[in-house]
Amino acid sequence: MIGFFVRKPPVYLDYNASAPLLAAAREAVIAAMDIDGNASSVHRNGRALRAIIQKARADVAALVNAKPDHVVFTAGATEAAATLLTPHYTMGRAALTMGHLYVCAADHPCTLAGGQFERGAISQFGVDADGVVDLGALDEVLAGHDKATGLPLVVVHLANNETGVIQPVKAISAVVKRHGGVLVVDAVQAAGRVPVDLADGTIDYLILSAHKIGGPKGAGAIVAASDLMMPLPLVGGGGQERGHRGGTEAAPAIAGFGAAAAQARDSVEAFGQLATLRDTLEQGLRAVCAEVVIHGQAVERLANTVFFSVPGKKAETMQIAFDLAGFAVSSGSACSSGKVGQSHVLKAMGIIGDEGAVRVSFGLATQDADIEAFLAAFEAQMKR
Ligand code: PLP
Repeated sequence: MIGFFVRKPPVYLDYNASAPLLAAAREAVIAAMDIDGNASSVHRNGRALRAIIQKARADVAALVNAKPDHVVFTAGATEAAATLLTPHYTMGRAALTMGHLYVCAADHPCTLAGGQFERGAISQFGVDADGVVDLGALDEVLAGHDKATGLPLVVVHLANNETGVIQPVKAISAVVKRHGGVLVVDAVQAAGRVPVDLADGTIDYLILSAHKIGGPKGAGAIVAASDLMMPLPLVGGGGQERGHRGGTEAAPAIAGFGAAAAQARDSVEAFGQLATLRDTLEQGLRAVCAEVVIHGQAVERLANTVFFSVPGKKAETMQIAFDLAGFAVSSGSACSSGKVGQSHVLKAMGIIGDEGAVRVSFGLATQDADIEAFLAAFEAQMKR
């Protein structure tokens, strides 16, 4: 198997599932792994690891224009979501309750799951046919919030992992703030791809993941606009992360996250230029098959994502054919079991039918030739 990949690596077009590990991130992981010790130890090894973590904290904060002290490292975005989506917060020394959770129907499963809220304390708000949050629906659902239960907590993604559609977070925030709510934004697919600015006052908390920006899997972060109001820790214990997340810090994973964040920060503009490749791909798909539907095409999207359906063709079958032809893409949303379910994002957009859609997502290492080869494989599939 290993030999197979060495001779003929697949063309990797599944960056939204996980971006390839950057060389700088790999080096940072290995360098941190080579230091024996615990970042909480006072000896020189401990101090060296602490310095590595603090450098990573500064780099992750800089990616989203936040304060380093407001970054809490977790074992990924899913843990960050499970921590933030809780009724139990503190404001200084006082307890603060979030009475109800409002989650966007097109969100990633890690926020849709609702964290620590009871089922009955979770409501959804929808998106329109392009996948953009319906501000009227959000306003309506928040108008029904019972203030006696506590504050409304709202969570929404910034960029959709399936369609790449970018949400109008400033407008969403205006609605949330009008209703006295707290806003959590899942910026996992947006960080390093579009500018994200936590200092502009619209967002209360960001959720980030290392492996979507070229860092290692298993590292993520909560980034707070202010540390005055914080959720109770999901993982308590040794007081690490200023008491917000217990457990010995995963210094290698955090170091890799920091290195990837530093590189991602410098390449946001270059990432935007991938729109040229995306447009070439979309034109090519249409040239082969005029009936191709590109989801979310009418609205602002990530420069690297194309989510398309072909009437009468099952996306899952197409994905397998692409895999056999040497192209790694996704269809619908890949579940942890490897099985492919009906895309809840398409469902939220009102797109029914069980054909699903193929997601092509690429990055800065993707070449024109990769897209051309993918289009040739698509044409071959359509002729069959
Ligand atoms: N949020 C979004 C939008 C994602 O795309 C993903 C990963 O697919 C996650 C959250 C979960 O990230 P992690 O793998 O770090 O738990």
